[in-house]
Amino acid sequence: MHTLTTIKKDIMRIREILIFTFVVTLLSCHHRDMKITMTKDQIAQLDSLKNTYKFTDKDWDARGLIPSAKSMSDNMDGLLNECLSDLVALENKDLTDSELKNILNRGLKRFNKLDYDTEGREFIADKFNEISKILRIDFNEDLNIWLYGRLIVKLRKIFNKEDSEIIESMMIQCTKCQDTLTKAITRIEENIPEYWTVVKCNKCGELNLFPAERNIKESRFINCTWIQSFAESEFDSIQINKKLNELKINN
Ligand SMILES: [Zn+2]
Repeated sequence: MHTLTTIKKDIMRIREILIFTFVVTLLSCHHRDMKITMTKDQIAQLDSLKNTYKFTDKDWDARGLIPSAKSMSDNMDGLLNECLSDLVALENKDLTDSELKNILNRGLKRFNKLDYDTEGREFIADKFNEISKILRIDFNEDLNIWLYGRLIVKLRKIFNKEDSEIIESMMIQCTKCQDTLTKAITRIEENIPEYWTVVKCNKCGELNLFPAERNIKESRFINCTWIQSFAESEFDSIQINKKLNELKINN
């Protein structure tokens, strides 16, 4: 009898610990504050970008521009590499999205805007956009502010409903072309059940699946187009993947 009570007590204690751990995990995993560590692959991509000369005459040409003076291109490449070095140095560190954005913003500030014309600035912004895609963060608004100024970005938001405030973004990589597909959540409401979302990649046309999420009232999609949503109550993860494959065949 005695041992049975002890076992019971132990089980209770384990249960308590498990519940505690679960609650702590829930609290610490709140999406916006979630810390992530860059993967080896992300570091390798940043490193390879750093070791590539990013503003060759050919690159200017491809944008329909007259190549800038070599000294100007060298300067741009060097400044961008400083930002890439900052990022690579953070290998194995836990970082939030906003910490990563701060590093990119610091990188942008190294460029004196007055040194460049609009095309030059857009070229720089594109490179930062490329970095943000490697990091899988949404850096568009910061880039627009840097390019066009806070006022214009604000005005555009007022006049363009498409630009309604993004509460949270979820990003996945296209399984075929690896482009970053974003589900931008613009309205949340309680008691909306979980839905899987199937989208079509705008670049290569492949169908992709966003994980099931609850309480999504409104969202819009970047780099992809909404195709169909499926209730999580009707499709578990195995069934939804089967469904996705079926859709792919008919696509
Ligand atoms: Zn694709």
